[in-house]
Amino acid sequence: MSSSCLFCRIVSREIPAAVVFEDADTLAFLDIGPVSEGHTLVIPKIHAEHLSAGTTESAMAIMRTVHTLAPKILTAVGATGYNLGMNHGEVAGQEVMHTHVHIMPRKAGEPRSFSKTHPSIAEIQSVAERIRLQL
Ligand code: AMP
Ligand code: ZN
Repeated sequence: MSSSCLFCRIVSREIPAAVVFEDADTLAFLDIGPVSEGHTLVIPKIHAEHLSAGTTESAMAIMRTVHTLAPKILTAVGATGYNLGMNHGEVAGQEVMHTHVHIMPRKAGEPRSFSKTHPSIAEIQSVAERIRLQL
């Protein structure tokens, strides 16, 4: 836990987030700047700057959550595919220095945009509720 790390503070519930899933090792919550409906971040509960800075076990736990959660997110938002993304280091575009996988659902006929959108907190919470109902 790093008190200055935004995602650690989401893990400890000091900062609110639209949490959709958690297990002993990982937490999943909606991105506040989604590139598509249901854009979710999966993070390890133990701080590591990026995937390679954490343990192999942590990397496997992250991927286990992605594997379980992604199909449920797709069902919840009516998507049929998804992009996974990870940025490692500032040079790669990483903004939050706590490992995270982006799950970006994709719907047929929609542009495959990687630009952020700015829905209201209520809209994000409503998508999160639909995902939680699938679990
Ligand atoms: P990256 O560029 O891979 O580090 O992505 C960081 C992501 O975290 C961005 O997509 C942000 O929109 C997202 N983000 C930043 N702050 C929050 C927050 N408080 N709750 C949820 N997502 C966040
Ligand atoms: Zn952290």
